[in-house]
Amino acid sequence: MIYADNAATTKMSEAAKNTMFTLLEDAWGNPSSLYAHGQKAKEVLEKARLDVAALIGAQPNEIYFTSGGSEADNQAILSMAEAGKKLGKTHIVSTAFEHHAVLHTLKKLQKQGFEVTLLNVHEDGIVRPEELENALREDTCLVTVMYANNEIGTIQPIKEIGELCRRHKIPFHTDAVQAIGHIPIDVVRDNIDLLSASAHKFHGPKGVGFLYAKKGVKLSNLIEGGAQERGKRAGTENVAGIAAMAEALKEASTHMAENAAYVSRLRDRLIEGLSRIPHSALNGDRIRRLPGNVSFCFEGIEGESLLLLLDDKGIQASSGSACTSGSLDPSHVLLAIGRVHDVAHGSLRLTISEETSEGDVEQIISSVKEVVEYLRSFSPIWRELTAGKKQFIL
Ligand SMILES: *Cc1c(COP(=O)(O)O)cnc(C)c1O
Repeated sequence: MIYADNAATTKMSEAAKNTMFTLLEDAWGNPSSLYAHGQKAKEVLEKARLDVAALIGAQPNEIYFTSGGSEADNQAILSMAEAGKKLGKTHIVSTAFEHHAVLHTLKKLQKQGFEVTLLNVHEDGIVRPEELENALREDTCLVTVMYANNEIGTIQPIKEIGELCRRHKIPFHTDAVQAIGHIPIDVVRDNIDLLSASAHKFHGPKGVGFLYAKKGVKLSNLIEGGAQERGKRAGTENVAGIAAMAEALKEASTHMAENAAYVSRLRDRLIEGLSRIPHSALNGDRIRRLPGNVSFCFEGIEGESLLLLLDDKGIQASSGSACTSGSLDPSHVLLAIGRVHDVAHGSLRLTISEETSEGDVEQIISSVKEVVEYLRSFSPIWRELTAGKKQFIL
């Protein structure tokens, strides 16, 4: 089995698993309790907060543990919307290729009267800071731009965007779920006010994440109840999961440079191999992309069939199209970078990790080649294209 869907989730690292197992035994107390066993859990929790903060250049009291990336995105955006509304500011700037945790939250706000500007991300999948600056208004209460895209892996000019938001005194949130643990992030260097992260995208457990909110940024609660997380996120903390997340992030940060070098070498080999398939194209910028992301479109085929046949060959990957949601619409990300529907339907996302071997990469290249040829051999669209009844786009 070759797992090439690390953007969907990653396997927990041994260190993260061991941390979690140990703490489930040794620190199962309630961190809000005053007796010794509770205080032990509290210590574990605060040590994790200290570690996570240090790894992104933040202060411990700027970290709020959540149930994952979606919750952090929701809380960041809704908090800034609420704070903005009090000042009569109801305009938000974001991009057309955000994760649904961001886009659907923005849609909810639009129904409540907020105005949302979604920036174009161009063919290379990169937001232009000058276009973003032009979209800012007197009543803009939030800019939210993802650090790296989950489908096409493109890395955004976050530092520049942060700088200009700071200059215009507009809060800046970034969904860094795909980036954190994979490329260096420092909230001070990058001028970030709010940042979302999720443990299961960097070899930690599922259902755990955090929101960084710079000192002075006013958060509202999504979940009301006890005074956990300094009164901003009620609910007894997932102590073992949080500690395992901190362990995973520490490990990822320690080995980041070597992992990134190894994984991006395999990525480049994959891109080179798949580019040899006729009428194919890489999605997103060739250079400014995550170490492990390879996203392609192949003309004349359906991404879903490609995935099923690759699965038969033991290769687990993903398609950009929203087949899992039962929708026939192609991916909003591929449409945002200007892929037409027919082309966007033939997409494949391969996201590799440091566990991927060189042999795996060669196997993926030959299997994808074989399956694409096979699917084209009976594709009506391919027949029209080769007969000249339809123009090739790629
Ligand atoms: C996975 C992902 C999320 C959601 O994180 P969960 O922890 O699964 O809720 C949000 N944004 C991006 C970019 C993601 O890749």
